[in-house]
Amino acid sequence: MNPSFRSLAIALTCFVGLTACSQAQSDSETTTTEVVAGFYPLAYIAEQVAGEDASVTSLATPGQEPHDLELSLTQTAAIAEADLALIIHGFQPAVDDALEQSEAMVLSADKTLPLRKVDAEDEHQGEEDEHESESATSEEEHAEESLGLDPHFWLDPNLVADYGSDVASALSELDPENAANYKERATELQQKLEQLDSEYAESLAGCEIKTVVVSHNAFAYLESYGLRFEAIAGLSPTEEPSPDGLASLAKLIREEGITTVFTETLASPDLSETLARDTGVGTAVLDPIEGISDETAGSDYFTLMRDNLTALTQANSC
Ligand SMILES: [Zn+2]
Repeated sequence: MNPSFRSLAIALTCFVGLTACSQAQSDSETTTTEVVAGFYPLAYIAEQVAGEDASVTSLATPGQEPHDLELSLTQTAAIAEADLALIIHGFQPAVDDALEQSEAMVLSADKTLPLRKVDAEDEHQGEEDEHESESATSEEEHAEESLGLDPHFWLDPNLVADYGSDVASALSELDPENAANYKERATELQQKLEQLDSEYAESLAGCEIKTVVVSHNAFAYLESYGLRFEAIAGLSPTEEPSPDGLASLAKLIREEGITTVFTETLASPDLSETLARDTGVGTAVLDPIEGISDETAGSDYFTLMRDNLTALTQANSC
């Protein structure tokens, strides 16, 4: 069994001071398994596996940039009452803190999946940023640096499949009666993800341009398909690039004949648009799929991944 799973023997102990506590006790016989997920992709995976047998709450509301997440009292209460929490430890420090007051089983993707190590260049960029300002998010950024890992694993369909099967195991442990349902849904999810993976591999196999310039450093997991991603900002969209960094990206765009600077949905497009204008190339959206925004309402993980694939094949002449 995974060592990050906490023993359930002490689960469902009430969080002192919450009035919902007595309610939860009184209808405990009919209570369904409650899952909280730090942000959209984790919630999507959970919903696919949970089906009708468990309820899933996403802590990042639509349109909210999950790196900057702050919790409302209702969200803190949801974490306190959860049976299972899906997170990436260090990605959303506010969620980590709230979980210290909860008996939920924690399934942290950085414990169960082989996440990419952050390379030296990114760490350096983070250090510079730390000296630069004492903004409200500097503590969160610091926590993300200390993670030392790239959290954006959901852009790799194979890792999503692995996490789906981890979620099925966790739900089965909490709710053994529905174990077969969880396993069946995780297998269905895996099949859809294998299909997506082969679409990516086929479409990106013969790209004329191999380098992609993106807004923040979210896309390294797509490098397994033969592309190289260069980011304007660091691992978190709130990290500011240096003037030197922008100048070398402009040089790269000219040298490699790059056609497009990518913007994203939840973060400001200003820097991408400026870089594109200065180098005389176009812009297009590449979605890090960290959340659903007004513009992407009605889309889900799979449609957004396929939109990204279309945008990449167009920009890179694949
Ligand atoms: Zn990100």
